Amino acid sequence: MTEEELRQDVIRYGQLLVEHHLIQATWGNVSVRLGDSFLISPSGVDYYRVRPEEVVLVSTADGRYERGLHPSSERRMHQVIYQNRPDIKAIIHTHSANCAVFASCHEGLVTDEVNYPCAGYAVSGSRELAKKVGQMLLAHDGCIMANHGFVTGAQTLEQAFAQALEAERVAGELFGA
Ligand code: 13P
Ligand code: ZN
Repeated sequence: MTEEELRQDVIRYGQLLVEHHLIQATWGNVSVRLGDSFLISPSGVDYYRVRPEEVVLVSTADGRYERGLHPSSERRMHQVIYQNRPDIKAIIHTHSANCAVFASCHEGLVTDEVNYPCAGYAVSGSRELAKKVGQMLLAHDGCIMANHGFVTGAQTLEQAFAQALEAERVAGELFGA
């Protein structure tokens, strides 16, 4: 895929997250690996207004990015995951309702179908949160984020999106939603 196509995909999957009620408004974030960098949704921007050129290219090694819109406040979390897991090429972070219940209870989502433990609480956007989630994703393809939401990585955005949908479905089933 070309860089332009990947930029469009970051936006398209942001819109899909809204349409499937995995996030509201500008929340959550989406990224995809591009060489030794990654493309990530800008912070606090409506997925229906953002333009492909506004998706931010961030260096995986040092987190640097060009002038323009600010990259997602969770860019460090995405960065640490890409650093730790060369096999992961796409990451989606959601605040979906059923996963949020598990997040509020500091409970992982671990069943025969899925294996997403709960990463301990840290302030949204902090280095500490990036570290805790990064640690969790060394051995899992996603996790519940205590008092916050859910994050998952995969080889493609399509697969990461499917995992986020599946986690939400399984979380709902577990308490009969
Ligand atoms: P951004 O808009 O900065 O990506 O933040 C959204 C979010 O979900 C923070 O955890
Ligand atoms: Zn969030």
